Amino acid sequence: MRTEMPLLPVDERVKSFKEIELGYSLEQAIKEAGRCLQCKNPVCIEGCPAKVDCKAFIEQVMLGEFDKALEIIEEKNPLASFTGRVCAEEAQCEGACVLAKKNQAIAIKALERFVSEHGKNMWKPGKGNGKKIAIVGSGPAGMAASIELRKKGFEAEVFEALPQLGGILSWGIPGYRLDPKSVGKVINDIKKKGVVFKEKQKIGRQKKLSELMKDFDAVLLAIGEGKAKDMDLPGIEKQGVLYWDKFLQGFGAGGKSFGSKKAVVIGGGNTALDSARVLKRLGCSVTVAYRRNMPFMPCNKSEFVHAMEEGIEFRMQLKPKAFLGKEGLEKVAFTKIEIEKERFVDTKEVEELEADVCVVAIGQEYDASAVNGTELEGKAIKINGVKTELWGVFAAGDLANEEKTVVHSVASAKKAADEIEAYLNEKK
Ligand SMILES: Cc1cc2nc3c(=O)[nH]c(=O)nc-3n(C[C@H](O)[C@H](O)[C@H](O)COP(=O)(O)OP(=O)(O)OC[C@H]3O[C@@H](n4cnc5c(N)ncnc54)[C@H](O)[C@@H]3O)c2cc1C
Repeated sequence: MRTEMPLLPVDERVKSFKEIELGYSLEQAIKEAGRCLQCKNPVCIEGCPAKVDCKAFIEQVMLGEFDKALEIIEEKNPLASFTGRVCAEEAQCEGACVLAKKNQAIAIKALERFVSEHGKNMWKPGKGNGKKIAIVGSGPAGMAASIELRKKGFEAEVFEALPQLGGILSWGIPGYRLDPKSVGKVINDIKKKGVVFKEKQKIGRQKKLSELMKDFDAVLLAIGEGKAKDMDLPGIEKQGVLYWDKFLQGFGAGGKSFGSKKAVVIGGGNTALDSARVLKRLGCSVTVAYRRNMPFMPCNKSEFVHAMEEGIEFRMQLKPKAFLGKEGLEKVAFTKIEIEKERFVDTKEVEELEADVCVVAIGQEYDASAVNGTELEGKAIKINGVKTELWGVFAAGDLANEEKTVVHSVASAKKAADEIEAYLNEKK
């Protein structure tokens, strides 16, 4: 039988921002690793977007060799303490595991987290090659790229717009899923290995991208997509209607008083579910309204299950129509959606949900001001793989990826580091 992740009891969870997943004990990790069939054709590796050799690291866990296990993971993924907490494992490595068919997939994500906590991080900077790379953004893509570039012997300087480092891992994903201390720990380790981080340096404002292009041998844009997409509906300006980015930046760490009681969240991704679970912890009764049905929800399955356990209500097939109220928000009006011939279609029926706060979480986009002052100002940044149309400027993470996840960010950061190396070798 699969060893499930030990969890904080639900009544404690909804009162705190402490991590709810407690992590495996040594005995649990070794027992779970012992279930791995060590397949001849390890399809779990294919399932991992970063192509971590899951089979090999699990074998080392079984043998109690946690440093070796971490070394194997870090060959492909230097941010195991994050991916071991937030990956959508059911759609990735564990979804591919041959035991998944019996609902007994090896708990690869939990083992990865265990290894990140029990193995000793061994990576070392490579022999200096005299070249300097500027990285814009300190999220997982920026962090992973800085590690990969240091391993190759480059100097790396990271420019971060915000006062805090870590990107969405520090201000977006709340502490009950990812303890901010684990972000600080990784960043401190990266700093010790020689990467320089510069906070409150918004490229396009404090410094121009063109200056970085002059002062560095190459630039990596890892600016993410941390801006909420606008919604153009009547009443959107009402007091009580918030976008997920501002909401999570203000309340994602908890601790502040919050007057609202009835909350509606619009959306079905991780941003919507995190907003809902934060609202719950701030004392609201929460309903998540999603325009399609459950199988289409882009959130991690575990987020959905935990949100249900925490008492969040889900209403499917509701498409937002207007925000209503005399002054502040009182209700959100939705058009009901029906399924006809496997398609979602609007009906004429309207449903109103009472709410004194509504968080809109329908999508994300990048802040284009990073390219102010270059030929790209005012245009969409064209990206092909990890290359931008600007000579010597590369891209990684959410900015470059179709799939916006931490592990995809890590994979693209590694690719970008390889491309930067190839570009500079060619230039010699
Ligand atoms: C609420 C939420 C929950 C999520 N849950 C999950 C999950 O469970 N699992 C998962 O895998 N993924 C999840 N994601 C997605 C994941 O967080 C992203 O895929 C990942 O953070 C992208 O990394 P990144 O480095 O590209 O960008 P980011 O993490 O967004 O970091 C970009 C950084 O660049 C900085 N920046 C932007 N512009 C500039 C500039 N001009 N100058 C300097 N710095 C700049 C930003 O301030 C930021 O710090 C979630 C996202 C959100 C918002």
